[in-house]
Amino acid sequence: MTEEKKETTETGKPKVAFHDITGCQGCVLSVIFNEDELLDIINAVDIKEFRFIMGEKYDGPLDICFIEGAVVNKEDEEMVKKLRERSKVVVALGACATHGNIPSLKNWADPKNLERLQYQKKHEQMIDVPNPMPITKFIKVEYSLPGCPPDRDEIKKFVKEILLGKQFYSYPDPVCRECRLFENGCLLDEGKVCLGPITRGGCRAVCCHNGFECYGCRGITDDAQFEEYFKLMEEKGIDATTVKKHMETFAGVEINEALEKIQEGKWAKLH
Ligand code: SF4
Ligand code: SF4
Ligand code: SF4
Repeated sequence: MTEEKKETTETGKPKVAFHDITGCQGCVLSVIFNEDELLDIINAVDIKEFRFIMGEKYDGPLDICFIEGAVVNKEDEEMVKKLRERSKVVVALGACATHGNIPSLKNWADPKNLERLQYQKKHEQMIDVPNPMPITKFIKVEYSLPGCPPDRDEIKKFVKEILLGKQFYSYPDPVCRECRLFENGCLLDEGKVCLGPITRGGCRAVCCHNGFECYGCRGITDDAQFEEYFKLMEEKGIDATTVKKHMETFAGVEINEALEKIQEGKWAKLH
């Protein structure tokens, strides 16, 4: 064992890794973009793997492993399974890991469009797992920090609470609750498809507060009222197919499963 390794294993701090499979790296970058936050995290834990800030490889046991990205091929699947075996706590970091996000759009895309859009040369290699899925479909995770990218303050709060031995709870209420605090007008009244009423908040309604519809990047609330939401949108003159397409952008895997359960496929067949 090198002196450096010996020193870090003797720190008594939790061993932590930040990993990314198929994604845009926006989630892990959201951890390092704010230097003060990064320093807080580095001081509190023993970071063993984080390819953006350290080159050293480590394949030992981990206390906490953050994983960004969706599983889109066999390599991703094997990677998350290995990380699971090595880690006491796995955290799905960001909407790709928690909900499949943009990669999972392939599940509902017209195959003809996919052939046109994919890099032809790599086509066969890239599609050995036909349906891109969140990591939660392949391994058990202890925690999910959703969002595209996840909220930096929430990551920091999560690390603090876990280090203090507390249980971390996701924000339970819909985006509308936080949005209303800003006292803005509601985008639904402008005929826009805003998913705030059925989407888990905790992002301070950042999109709606800046005039953009919520696309549901933090996934659905535990008690999302789909029937009421579709009815409300219909009253606004927006058909269910359009609404469902918005829903599928970030959290389609979860949305389709939820709709299948409540309506025996009625909503899932909309397109
Ligand atoms: S959740 Fe968003 S920011 Fe994170 S990897 Fe996926 S696309 Fe990038
Ligand atoms: S703009 Fe969206 S998030 Fe805000 S209150 Fe209206 S529906 Fe809810
Ligand atoms: S407002 Fe909606 S889309 Fe925007 S960050 Fe929050 S959950 Fe994501």
